[in-house]
Amino acid sequence: MIPVLDEAVEKLSSLPGIGERSALRLALWMLRQPKDNVKLLGNSIIDLVEQVRYCSECNMISEEEKCPVCQDSRRDKSVICVVESVRDVMSIEQTGEYNGVYHLLGGVISPIDGIGPDDLSIPKLVQRASTEEVKEVILAISKGMEGETTSYYINKVLAPTGVKVSAIARGVGFGDDLEYTDPMTLGLSIKNRVNFNK
Ligand code: ZN
Repeated sequence: MIPVLDEAVEKLSSLPGIGERSALRLALWMLRQPKDNVKLLGNSIIDLVEQVRYCSECNMISEEEKCPVCQDSRRDKSVICVVESVRDVMSIEQTGEYNGVYHLLGGVISPIDGIGPDDLSIPKLVQRASTEEVKEVILAISKGMEGETTSYYINKVLAPTGVKVSAIARGVGFGDDLEYTDPMTLGLSIKNRVNFNK
């Protein structure tokens, strides 16, 4: 009806969880707000995509070459926790139980989706684990079939490095369910981690 409104609705409805009706409601709401407020919203989205990059060490999102965790001298660099995504790091940080560093895979091995080890920064993990400094790698990957496959694969390729490989305690719905896991349970599952080979 009104091209500029149609365009905004189309873009907003491309957001996850936003249908066309919600998109229209949002667009009309924006038109009722003070212009400057809506511009701030727009600018913050632009800043987000322009200023966020990936940590050269662990692949976490960061505004600098290295993320705050990798830059923090109080973090124990001898322990690397392997996770799938940014959200997993946030959940684990929330527990306050973990003082090591991270390695983000960006997903799990999935032949059906054509995702192999090289697509997941696994070679980089092996490289990191090969340094003198690193003593333990904790696998905190989701329980599903693909998650298990990924964990076994990583355990296998890490073997030559001699690093200790452990996994978070089971019984915790990790991965997809991670955001629903309360920080206390998740914190315990990291503290009570077990040897991967048992
Ligand atoms: Zn980092």
